[in-house]
Amino acid sequence: MSASIPTPAGQRCEQCGVQIESNVGMPDKVIFSNGPNGTRSKLWSRVCQFHKTAEQRSKCINQDVELRGPEQKGDAFPDAPSIDVNATNS
Ligand SMILES: [Zn+2]
Repeated sequence: MSASIPTPAGQRCEQCGVQIESNVGMPDKVIFSNGPNGTRSKLWSRVCQFHKTAEQRSKCINQDVELRGPEQKGDAFPDAPSIDVNATNS
């Protein structure tokens, strides 16, 4: 028996490599391996929607639109800085 961190009502999405905590009366909290915690909709917009195969999707525990809800503003990665391929400053 190892004294690991208790994860009450927590689930781990092996496919996405995140921990999802369920708290009564609160939205589920997604704990990313790095960066701030997020929501299921954030997890979806950043990770889960990119699973390509049925096997990947079957392992993902965040494929249910009823659970994750609609995508929220700010869920997706911030826009990458635009790169002007012609601006070489040579
Ligand atoms: Zn997932």
